[in-house]
This record gives sequence, structure tokens and C-alpha cells, in this order.
Amino acid sequence: MDFGDNKEVAFMVVYRRKEDSQTWHWCSNCSQYPTGQDIIKRQSRPEYGEFCNECTVKEQTGDCKSDSFFSVRK
Ligand SMILES: [Zn+2]
Repeated sequence: MDFGDNKEVAFMVVYRRKEDSQTWHWCSNCSQYPTGQDIIKRQSRPEYGEFCNECTVKEQTGDCKSDSFFSVRK
């Protein structure tokens, strides 16, 4: 894929969860968004586990800030 000089790749939603949790998050502004070392990442909608209620609400209200999979540098 060629993203050219796009500044954001926001459509690439990344789902992530703690290794010891079954709850997936995809909004970086979620209060329970997992950070740290033991993070599992997925680029496609996971077919198992649970989806965070807070992330779901944020997505529905347009308040979801998602990390792009690729780090974008200015
Ligand atoms: Zn969440």
C-alpha cells in the first residue's frame, strides 16, 4: 500500500487489549485504553473477546480518537 504523504491513516483502526484481558479497545482516548508492554494488537476486527463499551459509545458519538497502525511523523 502507498499512503503517499498522507498525514493521517486514521482509517486503519487498531484493536488492542491487555494480554490478560479479553476486552478490546480501539479509541486512544478511552479511559481504559491499554498501554504498556503486554499489549496485543490487531488490525482487523477481532473475532473473539469483548468490545469495550466506552470505545463503542465513543465511536457512535464520533468521539473516538484512534491510533493509526503506522506511526506518522511530521
Ligand atoms: Zn475502551
